[in-house]
Amino acid sequence: LENLRKQDPEIVDALNLELKRQRDNIELIASENIVSQAVLETMGTVLTNKYAEGYPGKRYYGGCEYVDIPEQIARERAKELFGAEHANVQPHSGAQANLAVYLAVLKPGDTVLGMNLAHGGHLTHGNPANASGLLYNFVAYGVNDQTFTIDYEELRKAAFKHRPRLIVAGASAYPRAIDFEKIGQIANDVGALFMVDMAHIAGLVAGDEHQNPVPYAHFVTTTTHKTLRGPRGGLILCRKAWAAAIDKAVFPGTQGGPLMHIIAAKAVALGEALQPSFKEYARNVVVNAKALAEALVAEGLNIVSGGTDNHLMLIDTRNLNITGKEAEHVLDSVAITVNKNAIPFDPTSPFITSGIRLGTPAVTTRGMDVEAMKTIAKVIALTLRNTKDEATLDQARKMVADLTAKYPLYPDLAY
Ligand code: PLP
Repeated sequence: LENLRKQDPEIVDALNLELKRQRDNIELIASENIVSQAVLETMGTVLTNKYAEGYPGKRYYGGCEYVDIPEQIARERAKELFGAEHANVQPHSGAQANLAVYLAVLKPGDTVLGMNLAHGGHLTHGNPANASGLLYNFVAYGVNDQTFTIDYEELRKAAFKHRPRLIVAGASAYPRAIDFEKIGQIANDVGALFMVDMAHIAGLVAGDEHQNPVPYAHFVTTTTHKTLRGPRGGLILCRKAWAAAIDKAVFPGTQGGPLMHIIAAKAVALGEALQPSFKEYARNVVVNAKALAEALVAEGLNIVSGGTDNHLMLIDTRNLNITGKEAEHVLDSVAITVNKNAIPFDPTSPFITSGIRLGTPAVTTRGMDVEAMKTIAKVIALTLRNTKDEATLDQARKMVADLTAKYPLYPDLAY
């Protein structure tokens, strides 16, 4: 980065601080990952200079013949990876992808059935402060108060009571497998359209570690940067019959010019996800999550629903007499990065919470294994049980430093 170093050292300083933070911390935020250097390189290319409103072969600007190539490749790879009839790779984010589907199929005021946000749903599934909640009449289904798993009977009853135009499945903080086939059947029985937001689990779907929603849903949206391990962005898959409506809803419906450098990086990441090694990574994400959950339970911590089927878990912190906010803060102080998260039926506010969410995508990409998960569980338990004991927290810091040193991150990178 010679030019940047000369021109803007303040920004370079920040890059180096962030690179060091990523190297020194154990990253357990369930929605984060570590992209390959090939993906990183693609994002910093001349493709960012190009306006390309429209789609390959049908652009509103001249000079698009070469940017058409990566977009076409990204579309084909997305279709192949997930077995979809149509892919739109232009959404700037997961939120944009969801909004585009809503715009394509709903009129303002239409009823939509989505997962309760307090039970793990996402804010684009009807939060009153989000466009979804402002424009459409979202009603919620949730988890059972004993098992903390989706109550499909309640979902069916809610569908027949509210007769939604659209049912939305998918979540941000749900640790169990979701039966898309079953929800698709309910949608079919009640005459609703069905959208799956697989943002969190797209990498697991790509690696055959979770049921693929594509055969059961009219629309599947995702982010590309979580378990899928691509650049930050969104993606929509749908059946051919909906292709034109979805494309129109993305552009000009909700966006202007596509981010061609990001779309090319999506193509690179999707190419990686088609390799056999990606299946192994997806398997290890799940194996590591199970190992981490089991080791935390063995340490006496309370895991919501007792464990995990996917890449994430929720720790209920109430038996430790600390809030989610305090847990996030003290773990941060020993270089373990997590986020506070409401647990189902949480008695506290979303700013405080009674839980934290942990996920294994980033540590798995970094190469950490089951033994490392056991160490991480030990450090977490030690830290959460001794939040005010500096000597113990120092011991936790040392354990983190030893572990991160064993798994170098971007060893060739320097800013
Ligand atoms: N959908 C789900 C299920 C998510 O968890 C998220 C992000 O956390 C999004 C959509 C939104 O993605 P983005 O942050 O790219 O808008």
